[in-house]
Amino acid sequence: MAKYGIIMDVTKCNGCYNCFLACKDEHCGNDFPPYALSQPMTGHYWMKVIEKERGQYPKVKVAYTAVPCQHCENATCVKLAQDGAIYKREDGIVIIDPVKAQGKKELLASCPYRVIYWNEARGLPQKCTLCAHLLDRGWKEPRCVEVCPTGALVFGDLDDPNSEVARLVASGKTEALHPEYGLKEKVRYIGLPKRFIAGAVVFGDSDQCGEGAKVSLEGEGEKKTAMADNYGDFEFEGLDSDKAYKVSVEAAGYKGQQFNVKTNIDVYLGDIILEKIKTRGKSQRTGR
Ligand code: SF4
Ligand code: SF4
Repeated sequence: MAKYGIIMDVTKCNGCYNCFLACKDEHCGNDFPPYALSQPMTGHYWMKVIEKERGQYPKVKVAYTAVPCQHCENATCVKLAQDGAIYKREDGIVIIDPVKAQGKKELLASCPYRVIYWNEARGLPQKCTLCAHLLDRGWKEPRCVEVCPTGALVFGDLDDPNSEVARLVASGKTEALHPEYGLKEKVRYIGLPKRFIAGAVVFGDSDQCGEGAKVSLEGEGEKKTAMADNYGDFEFEGLDSDKAYKVSVEAAGYKGQQFNVKTNIDVYLGDIILEKIKTRGKSQRTGR
């Protein structure tokens, strides 16, 4: 039996909100018993896009993380719901039964991801169904995944070693949004926003961009190197928070520089101006 999941690559998402809108288009005003009743137009985010601004001027980035129900293998909502009001199907999809869950507002607190929403008009807790009504009709992917223009969302069978989702998980690049919850989430992420250290190298003698300068990062058992690009820019991404690193910048013929950096925030080192090493003239070398 398939075990369905979604991989969300944060580095590919440009924040177009197509996934959010497709979910609204599919579920607002449409009842799909026994999977779900219609989603209200406002107040529900079955596919929530979280915007996170990172860094400081002039190095500012935005990361968009799409967060639907994680269809957890160890779902706390299933454990806490009485009488099968929330249940997990054989294919791993977690469904809130729109009849059995009627009036049970307390179920909102059963999910640490806070992705269950209360439908006041229908007296019902609701959330993402992974578009099970479509999958059961033979669709290959849910609406939100189908409309993603950048390929940031990938859907498939995590138990099929030939599926793209299984290959991405096997690559070791994916992780849970909140591994500390221990829920064995079937929505997994690539490139979740962490910390970065960046800067711009300038050659002081010519005021030119320091293209090709070598930048090394060391600390916390990590060692990485980068080359400044044609604008002199460099960046180390995906660093852990609250760690201490030493950043060294060097280029042939220039005096190197070192910085001690702590990643309690994203760090932009600004312009790093490398001064030319002065070479002595002939008369100085010979002492005449
Ligand atoms: S994310 Fe929350 S609602 Fe979804 S399966 Fe996990 S515990 Fe249940
Ligand atoms: S899988 Fe379906 S229900 Fe879930 S967020 Fe995507 S469109 Fe909405």
